[in-house]
Amino acid sequence: MVDPALLAEDGIRDYDMFVDGGHVEATSGNRFAVEYPYTREQWATVPRAGPDDVDRAIGAARETFESEAWQSLTATERGELLYALADIIDGRIDELAPAESLGNGKPLAESEGQITSLATRLRYYAGLADKITGDTIPVDADDTFTFTRREPYGVVGAITPYNSPLSLSGFKIPPAVAAGNTVVLKPSEETPVSSILLAELAAEAGWPDGVLNVVTGMGETGAALTGNADVDVVTFTGGVETGRKVAEAAGRNLTPVLLELGGKSPNIIFPDADLDAAVGGAIRGIFASAGQTCVAGSRLFLHDDVHDEFLDRLVERAEEMVLGDPFEEDTDVGPVISADAKSRIQRFVDGALEEGATLLTGGSPRDDLQGGLCYPPTVLADVTDEMEVACDEVFGPVLSVLSFEAEDEALERANDTSYGLAAGVWTNDVSRALRFTEELEAGNVWVNTYRQLSMTTPFGGYKDSGIGRENGIEGIEEFLQTKSVRMDYAEDRADTQYP
Ligand code: NAD
Repeated sequence: MVDPALLAEDGIRDYDMFVDGGHVEATSGNRFAVEYPYTREQWATVPRAGPDDVDRAIGAARETFESEAWQSLTATERGELLYALADIIDGRIDELAPAESLGNGKPLAESEGQITSLATRLRYYAGLADKITGDTIPVDADDTFTFTRREPYGVVGAITPYNSPLSLSGFKIPPAVAAGNTVVLKPSEETPVSSILLAELAAEAGWPDGVLNVVTGMGETGAALTGNADVDVVTFTGGVETGRKVAEAAGRNLTPVLLELGGKSPNIIFPDADLDAAVGGAIRGIFASAGQTCVAGSRLFLHDDVHDEFLDRLVERAEEMVLGDPFEEDTDVGPVISADAKSRIQRFVDGALEEGATLLTGGSPRDDLQGGLCYPPTVLADVTDEMEVACDEVFGPVLSVLSFEAEDEALERANDTSYGLAAGVWTNDVSRALRFTEELEAGNVWVNTYRQLSMTTPFGGYKDSGIGRENGIEGIEEFLQTKSVRMDYAEDRADTQYP
């Protein structure tokens, strides 16, 4: 059942957007309801922002960015704002985590972990705020001093998907604000509430009005943000096709754009690997968050020598996973986000079976469980590279198993995709491991582990999986532009310096 602490007496709570330090409605007065995917009960409504509302939020962010108060804050003081928000979040996980799980149906423990990681990222970038430095640069001229300044862009437009709204906003807001920018955030229409709560907490932490603004709405609201010429950087996480639209809109205004998109990541198992660990890695790689993770290891390449044994162990573990109520402690896999998502998953599974794949477990939704959106861990064997299920992102708990004989073959087939977000390889042969780290076409490669991310480590995609990097020091670079300054300090400036 829905956590009663978050609900009004009639079961539905109305949330407003957060702009310029206060709650606001859409100017149209339009609102829409959001559902808890497990029970499919409506539990909240939020405003449906139109272009005017987005303009207002961008205006607030712009005004704050240009204000004397914001410009005169030292970098250390900006860092302190981030530390303060991290401390408040630590004390409010009990409020934020249920809101996140009501939104996207993730098991509560996973939401708690993600919110802890948001606080951790805030602290990482808080510490980095006053370590942003330029360079002094040698040039071929006498009496000349050349240096660079690293400056914020201004207003950042940030858009997040439904699967991890708070965690992913932690990839964007902390570095953007640490670098001195202000932000307008548009969360997914399916999971808008937790981001509103985050903006409220930022205000409580002393963030000046207009530094973090949240607008809620559908894709059209996101399009109003990315198409607005007064946005100085766009940072987007979501699907590839939406990413193309975002890049086109930003491109029209020549606005820099950071894209974190989908994946179809290979996870490759060699016989010399620690197979127990590899089974665990394969399971976590695909079934965490009901397969709704961008880095899902959705293509499992099994060497022929271990194929059958590995699959026996994998299927046994998959069948042990507890499906159901995100608020129950022992739940491993919650619901998928919507009826559309469930139908899409089913289409992939049915298509694979028609094309000759073998169903080892799962394969149809548990319609008996509450709202009927729980889809069990599903393992498809005998998948071939051409099948749709092996080519496109399912974004659900569906593992495609492919077999291979030789190392070169595994590498070539792993890379034969338009995506390039992540890849895993399991082997105790260090030379092979290094060959794979060099040859795999992915922004994130894991050896003998999978789906491990750290705030200190750049994260992003090769090929169609994205542009730019989040996390680590590279993550703050995306929100800084470089100004080069050249000074002539000669006492007697000869005309010859202007040939
Ligand atoms: P989505 O692309 O449907 O939506 C993402 C966001 O974009 C939402 O807020 C949506 O309202 C907004 N949007 C929709 N149309 C828009 C437009 N024309 N202009 C601007 N914004 C628009 O994605 P989703 O279904 O919410 O999330 C799943 C996808 O996100 C998967 O493909 C997944 O791989 C990807 N993802 C990537 C990462 C990563 O870091 N690489 C992380 C998580 C999820």
